[in-house]
Amino acid sequence: MRIDRIGIDESVAAVFPPEPLAQRLAAAAVDATIVDGSPESLADCQAVVTLEHRESFLDLEWVHSIQAGVDRFPHDRFREEGVVLTNSTGVHGDAVGETVAGFVLALARRIHEHVAHQTDREWSRPGWDDGWTVAGEQACVVGLGGLGRGIVDRLTGLGMDVVGVRRSPLPEPGVDQVYTVDGLREAVADARFVVLAVPLTDATRELIGAEELAAMRQDAYLINVARGGVVDQLALVEALRDGEIAGGALDVFETEPLPEDSPLWAMDDVIVSPHCAAYTRDYYRHVAAILEESVRRIADGEDPVNRVL
Ligand code: NDP
Repeated sequence: MRIDRIGIDESVAAVFPPEPLAQRLAAAAVDATIVDGSPESLADCQAVVTLEHRESFLDLEWVHSIQAGVDRFPHDRFREEGVVLTNSTGVHGDAVGETVAGFVLALARRIHEHVAHQTDREWSRPGWDDGWTVAGEQACVVGLGGLGRGIVDRLTGLGMDVVGVRRSPLPEPGVDQVYTVDGLREAVADARFVVLAVPLTDATRELIGAEELAAMRQDAYLINVARGGVVDQLALVEALRDGEIAGGALDVFETEPLPEDSPLWAMDDVIVSPHCAAYTRDYYRHVAAILEESVRRIADGEDPVNRVL
């Protein structure tokens, strides 16, 4: 593969403006141009960096996803056309870890309620037994990759005991016990927070369904920063309505944007965020660093960073 020019698809603007990325790459002597997905705009490009998938990308040699998740891309078509797909895994641990720590503290310390009351200029204290502290509580982190690592670091920093779930039973620093997915229900049983940080694949679709929710404690919270499809959303709504779990913080949903009529918007002890757990003003710098390294590797005849296909 030879890369002379990289297109920056305008869809990245949902996460950061494309111009600073183009400038950053230019400063590193990588020729980059902003494209709109049309074959004309991609004419001189062998590669593209993008949020969305577009059919025209199947004529390129290499597509880089600015997200860690690559569930937007048709993997079979990429294989058929011999297009290399890479992702941005590894750069989101700090931002998502801090977002999860924020959710955990908001729910335990009732900060989400204060914000809601402030909107109504209402001086309303929580009940004497509503607030609690998280030190010594258990969290179960499902997925111990880049995201999981950032989450484990923050939650252990808050004094929490952490167990984890992954495909392999390999130990992970800071995680007291690592379960494989067969032990998922056992892993979530004692946790006050269950945090989802796995990719959406055939194996993880609706990994959390009615039975897993029933296996959780009644005073537990589900935090989903993975993908909406990892949870059976109907089962989640029912579990929340029936008080089978206490609440949650949801950054991702089966349908995004979350439809206006979703009951999740108005549920007590449910924090809804618009798929932005990884947002940071440094996002484009992290993506640029991956691209620069990949271009260097490709020039040396090696695989780019984070090759998925
Ligand atoms: P990684 O590839 O670094 O880690 C994935 C982890 O999930 C690994 O621990 C892996 O297990 C585990 N895993 C994969 N498949 C299974 C399975 N079938 N059962 C149990 N565990 C499994 O990915 P990242 O941590 O970078 O990202 C994970 C996902 O989070 C992304 O794919 C994306 O969808 C989502 N994400 C969401 C963001 C947001 O803004 N909300 C931001 C960034 C990512 P093992 O360690 O054994 O390989």
